[in-house]
Amino acid sequence: MKVAVLGLGIMGAGMARQLAQKGFNLAVWNRDAAKAAPLAAAGARVAVTAADAARDADVVFAMLADDEASRSVWSGEQGALAAMRAGAIVVESSTLTVDWIRELAAAANTRGLGFLDAPVTGSKAQAESGALSFLVGGPAELLERVRPVLAAMSGNIAHLGPVGSGALMKLINNFLCGVQVASLAEAIAMAERSGLDARQAAAVLSAGSPGSPLVRMIGQRMVDRAYEPNFFVPLMAKDLDYARQAFARAGIELRSADVAREQFLAAERAGYGERDIASIVELLRR
Ligand code: NAP
Repeated sequence: MKVAVLGLGIMGAGMARQLAQKGFNLAVWNRDAAKAAPLAAAGARVAVTAADAARDADVVFAMLADDEASRSVWSGEQGALAAMRAGAIVVESSTLTVDWIRELAAAANTRGLGFLDAPVTGSKAQAESGALSFLVGGPAELLERVRPVLAAMSGNIAHLGPVGSGALMKLINNFLCGVQVASLAEAIAMAERSGLDARQAAAVLSAGSPGSPLVRMIGQRMVDRAYEPNFFVPLMAKDLDYARQAFARAGIELRSADVAREQFLAAERAGYGERDIASIVELLRR
């Protein structure tokens, strides 16, 4: 099977490397070409445009920042959709709005292409080790056709329902992640300001009821002040915004997400835009 990956950021690079290592015939493209060079060394064909990468692929993945990036890469006469051959399958793995996913699926179907939304949970480490979880929306028959490719990058594949179901589940998931990280920053800052030992406080929270995998991992980064990016601050603000829109459509006002999102936006404004989400605790330390 010929596979293409569009977008070689933190996540896309790890996913593409897994596919190259597992022997797939792989083409890759990234807007900033410098990020593609390591994939060439791993055996991938580096394309000069997204369309060029997608042209003869059976399955084309995208792992891009947001709706705007996805729209610009797939759409238009120079976009990837226009270049794909009929019968090929689009797999959009970026975290995007459900509205855009449905619009993109319709555009793909109009061109005779299959479409799955398949965003992921897991972060940089899981992308690099092939241990992501895919949240898939779209026809079961298409999922079966791409399953071997997804399996090369993941330990778990959940089929949630029709097109848009994967995207929606991802936004519900990241809403809960975003508010946990924002609350954790306040908890750690409070412990420190009150003279408690931050490490001991993080250990208590991690061992107790609040100790989700996320709280354990991000709490450790906060006390270590380890902000090498695994998940950039602006992307969490984006996810909370997209989640707010989806929940509003269902008549649920996501007030906790709004408050959390403001913390991520404030961190971005304060210069943490290229740091890990754990860095939002620094604003409260000042
Ligand atoms: P990232 O490292 O910032 O990568 C973003 C990618 O999007 C890069 O390839 C970037 O290209 C590209 N891009 C941005 N704007 C573009 C545009 N206008 N046109 C073309 N390409 C554009 O982010 P990431 O962490 O890999 O995240 C990718 C997606 O996965 C996001 O939707 C994110 O929410 C989601 N996600 C992330 C994680 C995580 O833990 N990191 C986990 C699950 C899901 P350049 O290199 O040229 O800028």
